[in-house]
Amino acid sequence: MINDLSQQKKPILQNSPTPSWQTQLANAISSIDELLEILNLSDILDKRLIYQPNRFKLRVPRAFIAKMQIGDINDPLLRQILPNSLEQARVSGFTYDPLSENLQNPDKGILHKYRSRILLTITGACAIHCRYCFRQHFDYASNLPTQADLDKIIKYVLQYPDVNEVIFSGGDPLSLSNRRLFFWFDKLRELPQIDTIRLHTRLPIVLPDRLDDELLAYFSQAKTQNKKKCQFVMVTHCNHANEIDDITAQKLQQLKNTGVTLLNQAVLLAGINDNLTDQVNLCRRLWQANVLPYYLHLLDKVAGAAHFDLPEKTAIDLYWQMLECLPGYLMPKLVQELPDKPFKTPVNIYKYLPT
Ligand SMILES: *Cc1c(COP(=O)(O)O)cnc(C)c1O
Ligand code: SF4
Repeated sequence: MINDLSQQKKPILQNSPTPSWQTQLANAISSIDELLEILNLSDILDKRLIYQPNRFKLRVPRAFIAKMQIGDINDPLLRQILPNSLEQARVSGFTYDPLSENLQNPDKGILHKYRSRILLTITGACAIHCRYCFRQHFDYASNLPTQADLDKIIKYVLQYPDVNEVIFSGGDPLSLSNRRLFFWFDKLRELPQIDTIRLHTRLPIVLPDRLDDELLAYFSQAKTQNKKKCQFVMVTHCNHANEIDDITAQKLQQLKNTGVTLLNQAVLLAGINDNLTDQVNLCRRLWQANVLPYYLHLLDKVAGAAHFDLPEKTAIDLYWQMLECLPGYLMPKLVQELPDKPFKTPVNIYKYLPT
C-alpha cells in the first residue's frame, strides 16, 4: 500500500517546483554566512554577537527562514536559531541535563516519569536547532532504540497497565520516514491498553511539507479502519505567531481534517515572545490554524540558554494579563518541568497577584 502510494506520487513531484520534504530537510541551512546573506544581514551585523559552536550547530530549513523578516537582526524567529556568543557563558543553575533525564531511562529510548504515559525517543535528529533546547546536550547516540528493540518496549509497557499513551518525542519523530513511523505506530496502537498515540514535533511549523499526503492518509485511515479506537494527538511547538504563515495554516487544516487532535506547546523566551502582544497573537493565530494552546513552559535551565531566561514574576505578570485578553479555551497552562516531579508543575500564579 505504502509503496504504491509513493510510486504514484513520483511523477507529480517531478513536475512540481517544490522539492520533497526529504530534500528540504537535507538542504537545511547550516552556514551562518549563508543564512545572513539570505536575510540581507551580512553587512549591518555586529558579528561579535555571533559564534560558530562546535556542537549543536546552526540548522534551519529554508521554509522557516522564509517566515523571517529580511534585514531584521531582532526577528523573533531568527533569534531562536542564530548561535549567540552569550551561549558560552556558564551561569550557575544552568546545567547539562536540567531534568535529570539521563537517570530516568528504564530502557533504551524509554522515558517513564509520568504514570499513565511513556515517552519514546526513536530519533535524535531535528530539522531545526533551537538554541534554548533542553535536550541539546542529550546523548542520543547511545540511547536510541532500533526496530529490533520494539519487543522489549512492548514488554515494558505490558508491565505497566496504567500506561495508556505512547508519546513520540525529540529529537523530532517526524524527521523519520513514514515507513519507519508507521512501523512504530502500527505495533503500539495494537496493544489493548494503548488508546492514544501522541507526537511532539516542530516539523509542521518549520517544514510544513512534512505533512505529506501519505502521512495525512495514514491518519485518516487510522481513524476509520481502526478496529480498536486509538486517538492520534499532535503537539506542535510554535513560539511566535509569525511561525504560522498561510501555507503552514493550510497544512494544519488538512491535518485537522484527518481527525488528529492538534495542540501546541510554547516556551516563554526573553526577547522572542515575552510580552502580551506576542502571546495573544500567538494564541489567536494558533486558533485560526485549528491548534489549541496547551502548555506555555518556563525555560528549562539548560547550559547555554541563560540569556533566554526571565524572572518568574515577569512570567506570572504576563500570564495574568493574558487571562484578561483571551478566552479560557485559548489559555495555555503555565508550567515548568521539575526533575523530581511526576507531572509538569503548574506555576503558582498566586505568588504575585495582578496589580
Ligand atoms: C512532558 C512529558 C510527558 C507528557 O506530559 P503531559 O502533561 O501529558 O503533556 C510525558 N513524559 C515525559 C517524560 C515528559 O517530559
Ligand atoms: S525541535 Fe524541539 S527537540 Fe529539536 S532542537 Fe528544537 S526544541 Fe529541541
